[in-house]
Amino acid sequence: MFATCFRTFRVSNKFGTLARYESTLVIAEHNNESLLPITCNAISAAKKIGGDITVLVAGTKCDLVAQAVSKANGVSKVLVAENDAFKGFLPEALTSLIVATQNEHKFTHIIAGATAFSKSLLPRVAAKLDVSPVSDIIGVKAPDTFIRTIYAGNAIQTLKSKDKIKVVSVRGTSFEPVPLEGGSAKCESAPAGDYKMNLVEFIKQELTKSDRPELTSAKVVVSGGRGMKSGDNFKLLYTLADKFNAAVGASRAAVDAGFVPNDLQVGQTGKIVAPDLYIAVGISGAIQHLAGMKDSKTIVAINKDPEAPIFQVADYGLVADLFKAVPELTEKL
Ligand SMILES: Cc1cc2nc3c(=O)[nH]c(=O)nc-3n(C[C@H](O)[C@H](O)[C@H](O)COP(=O)(O)OP(=O)(O)OC[C@H]3O[C@@H](n4cnc5c(N)ncnc54)[C@H](O)[C@@H]3O)c2cc1C
Repeated sequence: MFATCFRTFRVSNKFGTLARYESTLVIAEHNNESLLPITCNAISAAKKIGGDITVLVAGTKCDLVAQAVSKANGVSKVLVAENDAFKGFLPEALTSLIVATQNEHKFTHIIAGATAFSKSLLPRVAAKLDVSPVSDIIGVKAPDTFIRTIYAGNAIQTLKSKDKIKVVSVRGTSFEPVPLEGGSAKCESAPAGDYKMNLVEFIKQELTKSDRPELTSAKVVVSGGRGMKSGDNFKLLYTLADKFNAAVGASRAAVDAGFVPNDLQVGQTGKIVAPDLYIAVGISGAIQHLAGMKDSKTIVAINKDPEAPIFQVADYGLVADLFKAVPELTEKL
């Protein structure tokens, strides 16, 4: 029934059907020193798919990361690839490694968090394997059937992939991260090869440094929109955010107006967040913004327009001038 290159035995899985034994390769996202939390969300999605989970850690000196992820709950093996070719995590070099790893191990699924990293990597991998990538899933119905949003989050699609290898990216906010404890996976070397390529060369990267929590993993996010009127006025939000150890986000209008840098953008073309508390200040609530934050557990909106669409998704709404309400709120906290 199935291609002979795959493991041929079948087992009952948790979806109650007989299926080929699943085996997933999770691509770890990291900075050579520490594992990025999104990898734990991707492992969680892999657990929902079922079967063995192998994590690929590729970098330059990434042994500490491999050790950390080997303790992740549910991981059975860690493949480590250290090579100068992986400096800067260039997708061109990593694609060759992943294809070589796939050829050797014959996974049924290859998955990663839906981030800028995987957006440049997984489509290449899928193309090389001649399969269609399935992007930004929010749920797993069966090993071949995934749930994802379409039309900026206005419709939910259930998608069945007939490809023999599923290449999938995972929306972090939809899968509880697995803890980095309780596991004791063995670490092995990934397939060796000449992964150096002449197409591109990594020169340098400049990263924004911030003491604040990372936007996509913060428990509280305070976001400002065009209603903030200027970048200087965002100081009001930083002061409020300090009370909660919150991350600061923004609407695209605030970013486009130059109030704040674009890595703060929340929404369809920005970051997807689902914190415990999301405070939207001077944001109207356009669907493209809602697409990035409507899964937040509690939403608070401060807007002077009682008709603003943000109030339709808000759990608590304050119709007020933000320049009065935000300092008052900050003072009372
Ligand atoms: C393809 C596409 C992708 C997009 N992607 C994104 C995205 O990722 N993220 C995103 O955010 N947008 C995105 N947009 C843009 C989106 O459509 C909206 O234009 C944008 O979200 C509006 O931002 P805003 O709410 O800050 O501004 P506005 O819609 O102008 O709203 C400003 C709000 O501030 C309120 N306000 C003004 N002054 C005060 C005051 N003193 N006190 C209290 N309230 C006040 C107003 O009542 C108003 O509701 C996208 C659009 C397109 C077409």
